[in-house]
Amino acid sequence: MKTIKITPRGYCHGVVNAINTISNLDTLSMKKPIYILGMVIHNKQVVDSLGEMDLITLNDKSKTRLELLDEIDSGTVIFTAHGVSPAVYAKAFSKGLRIIDTTCNDVFKSQDTIISYTLQNYDVIFIGKKSHPESEAAIGISDKVHVIENIDDLRKLNLKNPNIAMTNQTTMSIFDIFYISEEAKKIYPSIIIVDEICNSTRIRQEAVSKQEENIDHCFVVGDKLSNNSKKLVEVSKEVAKINSTLIESVEDINIEQLKVYNSVSVTSGASTPTKVTREVISFLEQFDKDNLSTHNNKSNITKYNLLSKKPLPI
Ligand code: SF4
Repeated sequence: MKTIKITPRGYCHGVVNAINTISNLDTLSMKKPIYILGMVIHNKQVVDSLGEMDLITLNDKSKTRLELLDEIDSGTVIFTAHGVSPAVYAKAFSKGLRIIDTTCNDVFKSQDTIISYTLQNYDVIFIGKKSHPESEAAIGISDKVHVIENIDDLRKLNLKNPNIAMTNQTTMSIFDIFYISEEAKKIYPSIIIVDEICNSTRIRQEAVSKQEENIDHCFVVGDKLSNNSKKLVEVSKEVAKINSTLIESVEDINIEQLKVYNSVSVTSGASTPTKVTREVISFLEQFDKDNLSTHNNKSNITKYNLLSKKPLPI
């Protein structure tokens, strides 16, 4: 099967930093227990492998980071690359926890933008997923921050402050941000717009948007919880006009559908381990619809320690 490997793809610098920080922890000498507040990155395979390091991931989608902290009374807490609000820092500090912060520099930068404008008495519109930790951290900075997901949310806001700024979650679609920004300028003509989509997200989306037209299907390898992976699917469908599927591993590929394609492309989200994407690419490259022996898409990395890179006992 003709398989186009879209570049860049895979781990971004923020994810590399978070994983390296955690992989290099000297857990034997640290205050125990060691908790991670939320999923360190939005990838279940990586999170599962953390259990092998005696790290406890606290992940309950119905709870905020601030609420999850109630479950920790002692030891060490690790903040994820998505960042946390000032209230989370204060609460962890007041509990006497050792704090390890893996917040991505690009997230810090977007938080600094919000802090700067709210201190100048601006209302700040934040484009982000309402349930995403970056949005939780943004709201936690000030009650002048308003999270919106789309143009409908924007129209309902009806802000009266003459000083309005707008920024966004780092992993949103560059194309959605453009359309929402254009609408915001009509509603609030003096609005200040600060685009905080991180460079890793931007260049991955731009690469997907510029795919060759004759590709039959684009596979995005990524976790269903990964916002930047889901946005790559949207960009492929809506901008490149190439149908696209989010797959977590090679096992999610539908063989019957694959038989009707002549060419496919592959990219992956910023939190997808390289070996998972490589396995998908290898399978697609050797696939021949007329040769049954090439149709076995069973993964060989279902139980693999993605942090230490050592195989785990099955
Ligand atoms: S996707 Fe962007 S903001 Fe998020 S961790 Fe990666 S580089 Fe940082």
